[in-house]
Amino acid sequence: MNTNLVLYNGKVVAETTTLENGYVAVGNGRILGIGEGPVPKEYKSYEPIDVHGKVISPGLIDMHTHGITNIDFMNASYEEVENALREYAKYGVTSLAPTTLSNPIDIIVRQHKLIREVKNTSSVGAMIIGTHMEGPWLAARCRGGHDLVYLQSPQPEVVDHVLREVGDILASVTYAPELDNSVYLTEQLSLHGILPVFGHTEATFEEAQASILAGARHVTHMYDTTLGYKENPEEALVMMPGMETAVLMDDRVSIELIGCPVHVPKPFFKFIEKVKPHNKTIVVTDSLVGTGLPEQTVLSYEDGHQVYVEDGVLRMINDDPAINGNLTGSAVTLNVALRRLKEYAELKLSRAIEWASLNPATALGVERRTGSIKVGKDADIIVMDEDCVVSLTISKGTVVYDNM
Ligand SMILES: [Zn+2]
Ligand SMILES: [Zn+2]
Repeated sequence: MNTNLVLYNGKVVAETTTLENGYVAVGNGRILGIGEGPVPKEYKSYEPIDVHGKVISPGLIDMHTHGITNIDFMNASYEEVENALREYAKYGVTSLAPTTLSNPIDIIVRQHKLIREVKNTSSVGAMIIGTHMEGPWLAARCRGGHDLVYLQSPQPEVVDHVLREVGDILASVTYAPELDNSVYLTEQLSLHGILPVFGHTEATFEEAQASILAGARHVTHMYDTTLGYKENPEEALVMMPGMETAVLMDDRVSIELIGCPVHVPKPFFKFIEKVKPHNKTIVVTDSLVGTGLPEQTVLSYEDGHQVYVEDGVLRMINDDPAINGNLTGSAVTLNVALRRLKEYAELKLSRAIEWASLNPATALGVERRTGSIKVGKDADIIVMDEDCVVSLTISKGTVVYDNM
């Protein structure tokens, strides 16, 4: 229920400053007031929430996640999507971009329509910002967990069909800029206000630059399935600049890292913090169905293969010892990803939070209404401790998770 609330006695991580002992007043789904010290008289009639010195942070935004607690956005029903939104709230996520994997185009379109239906008719848990379509326009050699049989180049008539059917719900599309017609795809996405994103790619510097010129502004899980450099075929041991050089040189392009040391070796977190503008660094989960399940839980897929959950990743179960235990995806939650980012990049918590709130909001063009604690913005707020253990989640002024 949407009531007037005032959270107090907390460390408020506001957009431009951190208040060591402050309050945040919320009403009509918006942030009405922020301040230092005791709650002023004007908010005395509001329902008080003493946060006992914990951190009052903007809600977290996951712009790349495939599912949680046995729910996969690629095949979820309406009710399952709603249940997933409740689950995300437990980990401090107030907004997300449900992400689909490579599949036949009609099935992908069907799922985006279903997620649009949930967004338009439901308001439980975390909010859907828009959807993220990852695949099938990806490079075969860099496909990672995407099924080879579905991969294709973006044919203009297919691109037009997708945009006609679900262009209004798409927030972002990940594709490999070396594929045929990728400049056409990039231009069409830009024209529709959809974020064009590089991923699963071995593009050359020139191919990446051509797509940046056409509007590409973000990189999906950098250092996973993104081949940055290639050897010059004519000069042994001479490296040619690739996609990585193009995106690190261009300050308009944001970089996303999975908050997981198995997917992203730790030094890369500090490296991206150092080389990218402060509003272009983003942490995501890229989480799959095993997320939020107990350690060692075994999951079985329709095609018969099995995986298990271990320390924020999914690993394969196979009779062949050569591949048994291989990494098959992420199962990290965004609050844990945030804690790891803070540790690996040696950041203050307030700075790390920007990677998971204001920066993804900015990349997706929703920073005017969410992504930070600022008067007038939506009341998307969480309470957590310094280790990012979440105890309260408020989405547009409504408490959607309470473990205070
Ligand atoms: Zn991927
Ligand atoms: Zn993904």
